Amino acid sequence: MNEVDAVIIGGGIVGTSAALALCRSGRSVVLLERDFCGSHSSGVNYGGVRRQGRPLSQLPLSQRAHEIWGRLPELIGIDGEYQRSGHLKLARSFHDMAALQDYADSSRGFGLGLQVLDRGQLRARFPWVGDVAVGASLCPDDGHANPRLVSPAFARAARQLGAQIHEQSAVTEVSHDGQRFEVRAANGLTVRAPWLLNCAGAWADSLAAQFGEPVPMHSGHPAMLVTEPLPRVMDVSTGVEGGGIYARQVARGNCVLGGGQGFALDTARARPGQSAVLEILRQAVELYPFLEGAQAIRTWSGTEGYLPDRQPVIGPSSTQPGLLHAFGFAGAGFQIGPAVGEVLAEMVCTGASSTPLEAFSITRFHSIPVV
Ligand SMILES: Cc1cc2nc3c(=O)[nH]c(=O)nc-3n(C[C@H](O)[C@H](O)[C@H](O)COP(=O)(O)OP(=O)(O)OC[C@H]3O[C@@H](n4cnc5c(N)ncnc54)[C@H](O)[C@@H]3O)c2cc1C
Repeated sequence: MNEVDAVIIGGGIVGTSAALALCRSGRSVVLLERDFCGSHSSGVNYGGVRRQGRPLSQLPLSQRAHEIWGRLPELIGIDGEYQRSGHLKLARSFHDMAALQDYADSSRGFGLGLQVLDRGQLRARFPWVGDVAVGASLCPDDGHANPRLVSPAFARAARQLGAQIHEQSAVTEVSHDGQRFEVRAANGLTVRAPWLLNCAGAWADSLAAQFGEPVPMHSGHPAMLVTEPLPRVMDVSTGVEGGGIYARQVARGNCVLGGGQGFALDTARARPGQSAVLEILRQAVELYPFLEGAQAIRTWSGTEGYLPDRQPVIGPSSTQPGLLHAFGFAGAGFQIGPAVGEVLAEMVCTGASSTPLEAFSITRFHSIPVV
């Protein structure tokens, strides 16, 4: 029987970051991943590493993550193609412009350094943006990275510091004997620990429910595509106020675009769907005219957990001491994931998080019936 300080379920960016942070604090860790580390949302997402636009309650965590992203090579041995390119949020109407200005005002104390640009300033700095945009808000130090490189690298770095990372190890049974959790995987692995970290992404609700904390989480499937390599034009990652599409261009010239929702093939696999892909392409040509005629060479989607308020659950279980939850990132957990891992490790090591987490308590769903 393997006895450690903490067992982590899920090898996405949240679970692997927690494993790394725990090992850096000298704790022994087993991480159990059903498939491969980074094979779900954490490895297939758009790659936006963005603070701009998050609810204010997420900004302390997001700022903490921003600092971690700046140290990637030191922490995980690669830069993960992370660039602080800037994140440009476009407005298509004066109403949307007002919303961008309001956000810039209300987030002022958080260090995002937002610059609100009117139509003339936008045209002068980003001449490749389509006429449909009437202005924008620029966060100069936000950026993007390659999720396929970053998320597995957190797992590798944790393993190098002693974490036992078991892939193709689906957790099928969890019990608690009053002192320790006993966690069993389908392949026969059994581990005991006083701490259990529920980092199982869109599938984390079943463990929460087992411990008497059902949550109204549903799965969503953001649609994504990538174009053939094109001449370099976009020097920032972009989004649109009110949603719609987002786009960035990588060093090789391919443009990565996302928007809308695809559909599930089963509980763990998803496709973008033709209508979502066509809608991304339609909006892309309006907002980024240089993309007219560009070939999309691949489309994909992923499976992500969404709670009704689009905020994650992060923090201790209110029913089971030693159980920590971190899931439901609503299409925006890649940037904050490394900080979530750190706060989970902090809770194991010190009993509390130094970054405020009140807004993310699982108790906010206790009075809501789950259907
Ligand atoms: C297409 C797409 C685009 C996105 N774009 C962005 C973006 O640009 N910026 C951003 O910040 N966020 C983005 N996101 C969201 C972001 O990717 C996720 O919020 C984040 O990766 C969640 O990380 P995670 O570790 O919680 O979950 P996951 O990466 O889903 O990892 C959870 C892991 O748990 C494992 N697991 C589940 N059940 C078990 C079990 N019983 N036993 C063992 N293992 C189990 C799963 O196999 C999975 O690997 C996007 C998401 C998608 C799908």
